[in-house]
Amino acid sequence: MDFTRIRRFTYIINSVILFLVIALAGFFFLCKASILIWFSIPTLLVYILGYVLIFKDRLAIYVRLVYFWITFYMCLCTFCLGYKIGFHLYCFSMIPIIFYTEYMADKLGRTKVNAFVASSIIAICYLLSTGYTAFKGPVYPVDNSIAGAFWTFNSVIVIAFLVFYSRLMLSLIGDYENQLKQTALIDRLTGLYNRHYMVGRLESATKENGPHSVAMIDIDDFKKINDRYGHNAGDYVLVNVARILKDICRDSKVSRWGGEEFLILTSGTITDNSALIEKLRASIEKEDFAFGEDHIKVTITAGLADYSGNDSIDRWVNVADENLYKGKKTGKNKVVY
Ligand code: GH3
Ligand code: MG
Ligand code: MG
Repeated sequence: MDFTRIRRFTYIINSVILFLVIALAGFFFLCKASILIWFSIPTLLVYILGYVLIFKDRLAIYVRLVYFWITFYMCLCTFCLGYKIGFHLYCFSMIPIIFYTEYMADKLGRTKVNAFVASSIIAICYLLSTGYTAFKGPVYPVDNSIAGAFWTFNSVIVIAFLVFYSRLMLSLIGDYENQLKQTALIDRLTGLYNRHYMVGRLESATKENGPHSVAMIDIDDFKKINDRYGHNAGDYVLVNVARILKDICRDSKVSRWGGEEFLILTSGTITDNSALIEKLRASIEKEDFAFGEDHIKVTITAGLADYSGNDSIDRWVNVADENLYKGKKTGKNKVVY
C-alpha cells in the first residue's frame, strides 16, 4: 500500500470514528450520562484536529493521539456505563491494529509506534475500567435491553475489525514475500531470470522425462563495446540483447548467467533447437543498437549441449561452455554443437 492510499484510508477511518462519536453523544444524552456528554466535546475536537494532522502529513502524531484518546474514551464509557455495553471489547481489536501500524511504519520508514508499550497501556486501562465496574457497578446504570443491543453491536464491529486486519496483514505479508521472491530470482538490469533461479530449473529439467538442451550465449568483444561507447552503452546493449532473447525464445527459460553471458534452457534436443538459436544469432547480428548518436553492432557466439541423462548439471553446462569456447576460438558469431 503506498502512502497516498494510507492517507486516504486514514481520512475514512477518522470520519467513521467522528460519526460514531456524534451518534454516541446522542445516546449518552438519552442515558443522562452527563460526564460522557461533556467528554464528547473534547472528543469531537480531537477528531477535527485529526483531519488537520492527516492533511499536514503528521500521521505519527495522529496515530498516537487517536490511540490515546480511544483508550481513554473506552475506559471512561466502561467506567460510567458498565462493561455490559461492550466498549472494553475494542481493546481486543486495538492491539492487532497497533502491531499492524508498527509494521507499516517500519516498511514506510516512518516514526514507529512502540506496539508493545501501547498494548500494555491498553491492557492496563482495560483491567482498571472493567475491574472497577465489576466490583462497584457503573456510575450510570443502563437498561439491560439497551446494554444488550450495544454489546451485540460492539461485538460485531470488533470481530469485523479483527477479521479485516488479520486478512490485510496476511495479504501484506504475501505481497512482500512475492516481492522478495521476485528480487531473489530476477536479474535487476535485464529482467531475465538470474543464475540462482536457473540452477533450480536445470535441476528440475534433469528429473523430468523428455529431452532438454541448453545454449550458453556470450556477447562477442563486449569489453570493446564498453571501452568504445562507455559502460552505459554496454548496459543498454545487455538490456536489448536480453529483450531479443526473451522475444525469440519465449517458450524457453532464459537467464543471465553472468556479466554478458546468458543461458537458455529449452525442452527438446539440440537438433530441435539449433535453428532457433541460429535465428537468435542472426537477429542480434542484424539489429542496430542505437544509443544516443551511436549505432552499435553486436554479435553473439553460442555453445549448445544436450542433457545426456546421467551427467551432473555442472558437466552439462560445461559441455555447452566448451562448445562456446570452440566458437570463440574459430572466429565468433556462430552457433557450435
Ligand atoms: P569475448 O568475445 O571473448 O567474449 O570477449 P569479451 O570482451 O566479450 O569478454 P571479456 O570476458 O573479456 O569481457 C567481458 C566484459 O563484460 C568485461 C566486463 O567489464 C563486461 N561486463 C560484465 N558485466 C557487465 C555489465 O553489467 N554491464 C556492462 N556494461 N559491462 C559488463
Ligand atoms: Mg564472457
Ligand atoms: Mg564476451
